[in-house]
Amino acid sequence: GGFADTVPSRPHHHHQGLKDRGKSAFTRLQLIDQDQAFSQELTAYMQKKWRLFENGFDYNVVSVFGSQSTGKSTLLNRLFGTRFDVMNDAQRQQTTRGIWADRGTDGMPVLILDVEGTDGRERGENQDFERKSALFSLAISEVLIVNMWEHTVGLYNGANMGLLKTVLEVNLQLFGLQRENRTLLYFVIRDHVSPTPLSSLAKTLKGDLERIWDSLNKPEGLEQARLEDYFDLQFESLPHLLLQPENFEQLALKLRNQFTDKADGKYVFRKAYKRRVPADGFPHYAESVWEKVVSNKDLDLPTQQELLAQYRCDEIAAAAIGPFRQVVDSVRPRVQSGQIVDELGETTRAARERALDDFDQQAARYHAEVYKKKRAGFVQTLDGELHAVYLNQVKNALTLAAESFASEGQKRLEENREAGFGETIGALRRDVAKRFNATVDALAIPDAPWTFASEITQLDMLLETTTAKLRKAEMERVLQALRREARDTMSEVIADHLGNPDDGMWPGVMAGFDAASSDADAKLLLRMESAGVETAAYSTLYRKLHKALWDDAAEALREEVGDQMVLLKLRTALEDRFRYDAAGLPRVWKPSDDIDTQFSTARASAGALLPKFSKVDIRGSIKLRSREEFFPPGYDFTRTLVLITPARAREVSKRFSREADALYLEAKRSMVATQSQ
Ligand code: GDP
Ligand code: MG
Repeated sequence: GGFADTVPSRPHHHHQGLKDRGKSAFTRLQLIDQDQAFSQELTAYMQKKWRLFENGFDYNVVSVFGSQSTGKSTLLNRLFGTRFDVMNDAQRQQTTRGIWADRGTDGMPVLILDVEGTDGRERGENQDFERKSALFSLAISEVLIVNMWEHTVGLYNGANMGLLKTVLEVNLQLFGLQRENRTLLYFVIRDHVSPTPLSSLAKTLKGDLERIWDSLNKPEGLEQARLEDYFDLQFESLPHLLLQPENFEQLALKLRNQFTDKADGKYVFRKAYKRRVPADGFPHYAESVWEKVVSNKDLDLPTQQELLAQYRCDEIAAAAIGPFRQVVDSVRPRVQSGQIVDELGETTRAARERALDDFDQQAARYHAEVYKKKRAGFVQTLDGELHAVYLNQVKNALTLAAESFASEGQKRLEENREAGFGETIGALRRDVAKRFNATVDALAIPDAPWTFASEITQLDMLLETTTAKLRKAEMERVLQALRREARDTMSEVIADHLGNPDDGMWPGVMAGFDAASSDADAKLLLRMESAGVETAAYSTLYRKLHKALWDDAAEALREEVGDQMVLLKLRTALEDRFRYDAAGLPRVWKPSDDIDTQFSTARASAGALLPKFSKVDIRGSIKLRSREEFFPPGYDFTRTLVLITPARAREVSKRFSREADALYLEAKRSMVATQSQ
């Protein structure tokens, strides 16, 4: 066909691989043409020309990577007996781009891809194809032959390494996660003429590769991926084709053996490189990989205009951010020291506007798409720096608001006892929130990618917590006040009734207690409502109050029947009955009087008061009788009812007897005295 005309004559007919092939047996296929179209012939070639279609997994794929005119095609032809075009000076300019495929000769079930192109002197479209074909080759091959001149080894920034970097990066992005196999990077160093041993050339290349790998943008999930997770490396070299032709052919044969002879120690087609694609699925597989590669934007080279725009936009942004940073830097220390800088929003916003204006004025002239992207990036940078300072300021405001609310709240409550808690604290809370919101609002910038909603919520929570604390303290204070008030009332009631220990004594005390606690309850309710105590918490406070009231009352009762007091009460009772008559007049005993009977009646009735004083009789109290609802759970109410223990009562009783006896004797004596007058 048409290819035959462009195939140059080869000076190496002695090569074994060519012996078996007739001149007409060209079996090359242009797998991908100059328009980046994938050949529709691949299946037919696999079936009829290459006879690989039925091979199942028994076939291998090799391709080649490297700059133009580095002898790639020459090498492939040596290794596999193929007849890829070898460029000569005459046809150099005519060569079309494309990827060619052929099958290895001598029964080698190997599919070989040769990449052709221009000589890389032009940038742009050619490079675009170079990248795509390299990525494609890497993605589908078990062995990628990386071909390079010896004198380019170590040129880290050389075109080859740059291309390799891009290809490795995109390969990782596109195929990294679905990796099923490793790939052998088979370096062939051409025109190895220097005395530098292959091992040190290999070392240099390996170092370069590792540096390239480290600098790759690794996709999410593959940040830790290592070069050796994906690739094996092998290094070979060949002498100069023209200067040492014999040597060249000999060594080329040795390399060929590595691809054909399974017994060769360096046999390259290891299991680890095998793709899980049977031969009859290969056409479809290869085409889908090519489509994925072609449609990948990351491989598209920016145009010259875009490159320029990127470069200039970066420069312009760098210049425009200077004054902006100066402004931010000038306020930052104050914010960092905890202050709230009132003018922060205004000044930095103005600086931001200026920076964007500066940027727009110059950058808007460049490639629109790039300008738009770079502007977005610039805005992001500016806003990122602003956000840090703003957040700092908002946090300061938050701290200040919380602190001032707590201290100011306490102060206002103390200063103004008449006003209700709810009113005082509510007003303050609104003030504090207003001040905080004003600080936040002052930091608004157009289309800010952030909000301070979380800080606003935080403030609300802090104020709520502080309010709860203040409320608790306030209720504590209210309870104490009510308690004092009730204590005063109750001590009067108790002194009254216990000083007059008739049948109405306990009912009177109980009625007094019920009245005092009802009164306190009513007052507490008002305070709880004003303070905004949740109704669910009312009962706890009521019970707490009741316990305090009763503790105080019981305490007052115990004091009222202390040793001296109770003794005094008994003696007074005795005297009332014994020394005074029913009309309340002091008795003057006459001999006819039955002192003994009178005395024992009076003593018995006075003594009977002791048990009455010893224990509180709560029958007269409606509240104390329903004590389950009245007191806090767990309150040991019964214990509080004992005013005088039995032991103490015996002691008191004994002392009372002695005093009574003295009184009796005194009465007797007075009668004797009266008689003797
Ligand atoms: P390709 O573009 O990389 O495929 O390179 P070719 O195989 O087409 O070879 C380009 C030119 O380099 C041809 O003139 C070859 O004869 C010559 N060439 C091939 N191999 C070697 C080599 O090992 N050393 C030198 N110096 N020239 C070579
Ligand atoms: Mg070539």
